[in-house]
Amino acid sequence: MARIFCVANQKGGVGKTTTCVNLAAALQQAGQRTLLIDLDPQGNATMGSGVDKGAVEKSVYHALVGLATLDEARAVSPSGGYHVLPANRDLAGAEVELVDIDRRENRLRDALKQANGDYDFILIDCPPSLSMLTLNGLCAAHGVIIPMQCEYFALEGLSDLVNTIKKVHANLNRELKIIGLLRVMFDPRMTLQQQVSAQLESHFGDKVFRAIVPRNVRLAEAPSYGMPGVVYDRNAKGAQAYMAFAEEMIERVKTL
Ligand code: ATP
Ligand code: MG
Repeated sequence: MARIFCVANQKGGVGKTTTCVNLAAALQQAGQRTLLIDLDPQGNATMGSGVDKGAVEKSVYHALVGLATLDEARAVSPSGGYHVLPANRDLAGAEVELVDIDRRENRLRDALKQANGDYDFILIDCPPSLSMLTLNGLCAAHGVIIPMQCEYFALEGLSDLVNTIKKVHANLNRELKIIGLLRVMFDPRMTLQQQVSAQLESHFGDKVFRAIVPRNVRLAEAPSYGMPGVVYDRNAKGAQAYMAFAEEMIERVKTL
């Protein structure tokens, strides 16, 4: 059975998509059959996987509102080898359309039942909001991976996210748990980042992943080539960190 993980943080630009794309590629390289779901109308995970969002005919939007099956909507990342359920601006309308649809927060969960035994890992790239789309991601998942920068305000935003996850757990999805916090764009030369990182460890204990993703320009360059960083330059420090993170995830799912 596939293990389904949401990569979520309502803050914008914290590295959700970079984490999804690189984790998907690293898991696939490690022999894990992986599906990446782009749940953001920006379509960054789609483009970063080398799938042209403008040329996509059936997308995650169609799967959510029942206009396509999972099989009809999924594509393969040419560079990463994993499968992608792509997104583009069509998805922006889903937010409104879903309001009137039956089982509106469970649309993604229902669609994923069609995946059956096709995957070992399914990753969901959430938009930067606690919207109906993110709610669909949280209702479909077994766990949440939270990428965060070690900055002062990061901790403040975290409590809103943790509260939302608790509410979803209590009311909509008993299986949902926080898998872990992933420190990204880390710069060890900054004292504040070291302090926040230490605070996270003391407060969240082993919920903080051992892998730390450094700020690394190769990771930022890769999407413009439609490639995950771990494919674009696997020797770069950022790529190495995401590969270590993938190994950590493979270990961690054994304990879930
Ligand atoms: P949004 O909230 O808009 O969906 P996001 O949380 O998905 O954003 P990303 O798109 O992954 O964040 O990252 C934001 C920007 O930071 C991108 O330009 C990305 O290339 C860059 N970036 C992400 N991680 C790193 C890193 N470790 N080192 C350097 N640049 C990074
Ligand atoms: Mg994103």
